[in-house]
Order: sequence, then C-alpha cells, then structure tokens
Amino acid sequence: MELYIAGGCSEHGRNAFLVSGEKVSFIVDAGIMKEKAGTPWPEFTDEQVKKASFLFLTHSHTDHTGAVRWLIKRGFSGTIYASRQTFCVLPEFSVQTLCIDDAGGPGEEITVNEHLRMMWGRSGHCIGSVWYRFAAEGSSILFSGDYEYRSYAYKCDDICGVTADTGVLDCAYGNEKEDAVTHFEYLKTVMDRYTRERVPMLFPVPSHGRGLDVLRLLAERGIPVTADPAVAEEIESIRESAFWLQDSFITAVEDIRFLPLTPLRDAVRDGCDAGTFRNLIGWTGILVRDSQLRDETNQLLAQYVSNAGGRVILTGKQDPSSYARRLYDEGKADFCRISVHQNTDEMLKLAGRNDFGTVIPYHCRQKLEFDRDDVIVLEPGDRIRIERVR
Ligand SMILES: [Zn+2]
Ligand SMILES: [Zn+2]
Repeated sequence: MELYIAGGCSEHGRNAFLVSGEKVSFIVDAGIMKEKAGTPWPEFTDEQVKKASFLFLTHSHTDHTGAVRWLIKRGFSGTIYASRQTFCVLPEFSVQTLCIDDAGGPGEEITVNEHLRMMWGRSGHCIGSVWYRFAAEGSSILFSGDYEYRSYAYKCDDICGVTADTGVLDCAYGNEKEDAVTHFEYLKTVMDRYTRERVPMLFPVPSHGRGLDVLRLLAERGIPVTADPAVAEEIESIRESAFWLQDSFITAVEDIRFLPLTPLRDAVRDGCDAGTFRNLIGWTGILVRDSQLRDETNQLLAQYVSNAGGRVILTGKQDPSSYARRLYDEGKADFCRISVHQNTDEMLKLAGRNDFGTVIPYHCRQKLEFDRDDVIVLEPGDRIRIERVR
C-alpha cells in the first residue's frame, strides 16, 4: 500500500490524501487552498481520481471538502463516507453517499468492502469531525483529521493504544509553544478581567467551530449573549448534536437566552452617535459568524464597540489582509487563541499514546524538522510506502 500526498502536507489548506494498493484505492479528504496563489486544487491526476472507489471526509470545513465537486467532475464515481452531521452542512453530491454513523459507532471495526476495513472516532474539532483508521492488504494507516482532544465544547474519542503502520497527524500549529490548556487559561483570564470591568466584547467566530467554546465561556460567566442569526441557529440545533458535544457544555449553555443583534447592526448602519450606541449595547458578549470581519456592517460594529470602550476578541488565526488583522495591528483587538488543532509537541504526544510505525505531520505551512527517524515531513506530490520500518 502507498500513501500519496495530493495536498495538506507542508501547507495549510487543500488537505487530500490517496491510499492505494493492488486491490483498493481511496481518498481521504478533498479540500481547497484559499491562502496562497496558484492552484487551489489538490494535485491529483484524472487516473488517480477515477481509480478511487471511496472518498472519506473527516469533517465539513472547506480545506477538507471544498474540492469534492471538483473530484466528481474529474471522474470520481465512488462512494463518499462522512458523519451524518458533516453531510448536513455540505451540499448534495451526485454520487452515492454513506453515513459512517449508520455503519457503526466510534471504535467499531467496519467492513467497507472485502479488501478494506475502517474504524472511526470523534476528533474534538467541530460537530461531526472524525478520525479514521484503515486496514487493507496487510497494512494500516490512521488519519487523525483536525484534532483537539481537550476541547471545551466537543467530545473526542482520544486516539490511544491504536496500532497503525502510518499515522497522518494534525500539526497545524507547528512550532508554536503554547498548548490548548495554556491558550484557554489566557482567554479565561482576559474574559474575567473584562467581566469585572463590564467591558462589552465582540467575538468574530467561524461557522461550525470555536463559537461554541466562546458561548460556554460567556454562559459560565453570566454574560448576556448577543448573537447573529447564523450563530443563534447553530446553537439552537445543538440538541440534535448532543452526541458530538460534551455533557458539561450542554449543561452550561442550556438556559442561555440570546439578545438579537439586529438593533445594534441597524444602529451602526444608520450612523448613530456614540452615546446612543453605548446605551444600546449595555454589557454583552456579541458573537458574529465572520471570523475575519469581511462584512462591512460587522466592521462598522467592531469600530463602534471599540469606541464605546469595548474589545474585539479574536480566537483564531487572522488572514494577513483581513479587517480582523488590521484591528489587531492597531491594538483594538485581543488575540486569545482557542485551540482546534495540535502543535508539534501535542502531535508527538499523540504519537506517544499510540504505536505508529511512521508519523506524517500535516496541516502546517512551516518547514518542520524532527530529530527522530519515524517522523517524516512530506510535501504535495510525495508518495511513501505504508509499512513498518523496523
Ligand atoms: Zn477544520
Ligand atoms: Zn483543516
């Protein structure tokens, strides 16, 4: 069996991997690259795409699913596997789809066909996100997917005690030193301070991800929550997603009531004066689903919040050209990361909890170096045999 990297190693975006042998050939994730110039698509040939019988998706984010339709146009006619919640937020596809939840639960051995067996578990990254372990033709490979086992909101079936010849592991934060716990403690300290001082807070968050962690932190501090309709809708639907969420999260946010965002948005659009805005906003934590602040009204809102003595709190990486980054550079925003991935240390610890012959880091654009033989840094276009190096 061979692993071919079509994208996602030594870069951030277009995660796409092909596993192929004599009798079986399948793809794991098909994402697009948004961050750098050049082709946004994974580096697959038509032949590779047509030969693949299955496409396994780890979760819904576009760096893992944005190229699915492109794959189908290029001739992929196999079956797509993903969790039900992942399919829920994706468009319909013209090929056969299968919910992994229907095939078996976390940790169960699932027969995909006579040559391929698979196991999955929740990866703690967002609702519906999973890791996979595959076994075929005497070889085995594990894909962690985007992975965070200490999430404040999401459940994770920690990958532990698993044996695989190769482990493709999330290492998106690369050589950053702080781990998930340190990040959380920092964010809590900042929020506690603003809570004591009754400072309004604006959180730009992405769809399906860190918004829920923020929500829990707001709820636990008794901070009234103002949410845009997209975020409110996401939160309303968490009951159906209880399987993916920590019980303590559901308890924390159970009684939450939302203040509507519309009056604030209308006021800033109408150019209201600072005093009126201050009265309107009072003290609240605002959630907008616009992590880079691309929407003009949200940009205006951020200005008003800042002028009213409030703070914009960014919880994820900012695109260099974004309005969110500009605010940060101007000192008008705090950056308190919420971890949804691993750094190198966390990745090596994950490897240490398991028995992988070879470890392949993915999702990191830094040039990584490791002083051990079992960690191999690859790039798009590379291929490697899936076998145990003894
Ligand atoms: Zn993701
Ligand atoms: Zn990702």
